[in-house]
Amino acid sequence: MGFRDCQVVAPIALVGCDWARRIGRCYHEYRAAYSRTNVLAYVHCSVMPKHPALTRDLSGRGISRRAFLKFCSVAASVLALPPEAVGSLVESLGHSARLPIIWLSFQECTGCTESFTRSHAPAVEDLLFDYFSLDYHHTLQAPSGADAESARLDSMRRFQGRYLLIVDGSIPLARGGVYSTIGGRTNLAMLKECGEGAAAVIAVGSCAVFGGLPAASPNPTGAVGVLALMEQGLIAKRPLVNLPGCPPLPIAISSVLAHYIAFGRFPAVDDMQRPLSLYGNTVHERCSRFRFFEERKFVKQFDDEGARKGWCLYLLGCRGPLTHNACAVHKWNQGTSFPIESGHPCLGCAEPGFWDRGGFYRCIDETECTVDESHESREDAASEGQNLYEDNCVYCHSIDPGALRTDPNQIPHLLRSGEIRSHRRLQFSDEQLDQLGEYLKSRK
Ligand code: SF4
Repeated sequence: MGFRDCQVVAPIALVGCDWARRIGRCYHEYRAAYSRTNVLAYVHCSVMPKHPALTRDLSGRGISRRAFLKFCSVAASVLALPPEAVGSLVESLGHSARLPIIWLSFQECTGCTESFTRSHAPAVEDLLFDYFSLDYHHTLQAPSGADAESARLDSMRRFQGRYLLIVDGSIPLARGGVYSTIGGRTNLAMLKECGEGAAAVIAVGSCAVFGGLPAASPNPTGAVGVLALMEQGLIAKRPLVNLPGCPPLPIAISSVLAHYIAFGRFPAVDDMQRPLSLYGNTVHERCSRFRFFEERKFVKQFDDEGARKGWCLYLLGCRGPLTHNACAVHKWNQGTSFPIESGHPCLGCAEPGFWDRGGFYRCIDETECTVDESHESREDAASEGQNLYEDNCVYCHSIDPGALRTDPNQIPHLLRSGEIRSHRRLQFSDEQLDQLGEYLKSRK
């Protein structure tokens, strides 16, 4: 069966799988889901049959064929690879030697590691821990103290020029870097030493990329990110990819790792060294609330009616229009949700200096979202008027007031005057009569 056939078969064959279930939520998700199912089917039908040894090899490692294919298709989709490249990804990952990785954690909160270990669909740790050797990582390594440091030095010596260096956390430069030391050595000294023999570097999280929270004004520790150190010549220049976010998406870390393991290089990046497939669009452009932004329907308070209806959070300070990230597509917790979907504005955590851009709940530019207040208040009044009509008038009149023969502009006046005996029992206030009038006008 060729790829052309797969395009038809895949959506049927995969009904019930994670991706197929997502079809229909929004256009972007639909596209992502559809391309993933196609990619998966392509690999399933065109690549795997040519490599029976690969299937045997995977089962020997305790990895199911389906989980492996699923991971490759997800990684390919996240990185926007063409279907042809997926075959290479499968073959390279299936046969690759384990890549040595040294992971340095500096001024950070362990959120980036936490994010990485929560990778899903499939459980990336099940797969990737078979493809790389995590030789040094404070949180995940078994040894500690001198043993841990000697494991790092040993790995650096054995894999000189071949290991991958991952950094999370910012590097303090003030007062000679004394604000953060490991084994008595400053973060800068350790990074310099590890960077010399690294084949490439991944900066994970906004702290390692831009300085993050430690660099927030007045930046008492003189915190900077990895790229700034390379530009200043304080550490060796190596191929670098930046994955900002506080923390970054789990799938961003795992898919970039998979790409590097398979192809020996990073995916295409923008001028801030961020993968284009993940950071090429703003959160706003792919937000599920974007429709309401265009309709000028904004939440004004966290508990107002707009909040309950899922309207746009721009007035509450949402930074989605300025923030480049893929949260709205890949989400968190196994693709369940992301902050905006849960009702909280985007804080812009993947952009430089996000802590110092004024209050998180201050609107970026209120003139962007001028709302026709008079129109809005008329809508509210009509809605109240509808309740009054349905609670009081339908006992004598049609449920559709459009059938009334009296001019709707006259009805509040007639009710106020008390000239119609049967209406005297209603006893509406002036405000209620205005609301009823708005509703009746809206139905004519
Ligand atoms: S909630 Fe934020 S990201 Fe979403 S449409 Fe509104 S402003 Fe844009």
